[in-house]
This record gives sequence, C-alpha cells and structure tokens, in this order.
Amino acid sequence: MLDLEEAKQRLFQHLRREIKDERVLQAMARVPREVFVPSSSRYLAYEDIPLSIDMGQTISQPFIVALMTEALELTGMDRVLEIGTGSGYQAAILAQMAWWVVTVERHQKLADAARKLLAELGYTNIEVHLAEKTIGWRKGAPYQAIIVTAGAPKVPQELLDQLAEGGRLLIPIGSRYEQELIKIVRRKGELLSQDLGPCRWVPLIGEGAWSEEW
Ligand code: SAH
Repeated sequence: MLDLEEAKQRLFQHLRREIKDERVLQAMARVPREVFVPSSSRYLAYEDIPLSIDMGQTISQPFIVALMTEALELTGMDRVLEIGTGSGYQAAILAQMAWWVVTVERHQKLADAARKLLAELGYTNIEVHLAEKTIGWRKGAPYQAIIVTAGAPKVPQELLDQLAEGGRLLIPIGSRYEQELIKIVRRKGELLSQDLGPCRWVPLIGEGAWSEEW
C-alpha cells in the first residue's frame, strides 16, 4: 500500500509538469486508479502506462486521461458524453468536473462492471449504457463536451450532431494503430479543429468508424 502511495506521488509530480489545470489534477488524485485495474496489475496502477482490462481492452495512460480532461474545458455545468467506458476510470474523473456524465460501452461485461463499480464508489451523476448501433447516445444530446476514448478513421457525423453550440469534442483520428488527438469546437455553427498530438488507442467500432475488431 505504501508503495502505491509513493508511486501515486511520483505520478502526480510528473503530471504536474505538463498539466496546468489544478482542477484536473485534483479530480484525478481523488480517483483510486487501483480499483479500476485487474487485481493482478494493481501494483502498476500509478505508473504512467495503459493497462489491460477485460475483453482485450485497455484503461488509458494517466497522462492522456489528464490531457484529454484538461482539453475538454469543463465548467461544472456540462453534460458530457464519453464513448468507450472501458473500466469507468475516465468517467469517474469527468463526473467530478461536470454536471452529468453519459458513458457508453459496446461490451456488456465492461458496461456492467463499470456501472457497479462507479455506484459502489458513490457516483450519482454517471449513466452507463450499452452502446447501440449508432455511435454516441442521441437520447441525451446535446452535450457540451464529448470524449471518444477509442481511435476512429474519421470524425463520425453522428457525434458532431450530438455536440452543443460551444461544445468541445475530443477524438483520436488515424489508422488502427496510431492516431492524432483532434479537438473540435463548435462555435457559431462553425467547426474549428486543432491537432493535440499523436496518440494510440484501441479501435472505435461501429457505423462511421471501424467495422470489426481484428
Ligand atoms: N475510457 C476507458 C478506456 C477505454 S478503452 C477507461 O477509462 O478505462 C476503449 C473502449 O471503447 C473499449 O472498452 C471498447 O470496447 C469501447 N468501444 C469501442 N467502440 C465503441 C463504440 N462504438 N461505442 C462504445 N464503446 C466502444
């Protein structure tokens, strides 16, 4: 336990060098990453690396979680949509900085496990849904922030349709193996896009994204 505490301090010293929004660091510090990873990799919970979870998926690297959360520019009043619940870790962080979080996952097993864990941890502003055929969660739209935690070949039109005026969308775009993290802002009906740098994600599967898992 002491080792985890030490590792956590080291991780936050490292994150602090790049991440300037103190609210993001505080939100992350409050979420015990060790309960979102399989027990066999608990000892690695505060290393700055992605880790394998069930169904061949991954919980993201803490640095990219911090970077994406910061780039969403949350105000505390936002409705946020996350695509790719995975372990539920990113959703837990978003829930502390947003008003409401809707998160969707295509693997029933992961969605159920995340819903249960987030409830046990006391979160009351997160809805976990099993993903439907179309990407996102239309019923809850529009969203002030949308975060896609899987890589797509292009920006799905479905998601742009779910983005509110003034809203921010973060999505890794590229090949199956490497992507660029793209931020899109809808301002006065226009879409402004910015490249935040290279990243690597498991594929986003569905209409308007990749067709199958390999
Ligand atoms: N945000 C997660 C990590 C996500 S890994 C965390 O904090 O742990 C990416 C996840 O996206 C995987 O669990 C994968 O099953 C899911 N996924 C892929 N395509 C999807 C889609 N179209 N809708 C919802 N989830 C999807």
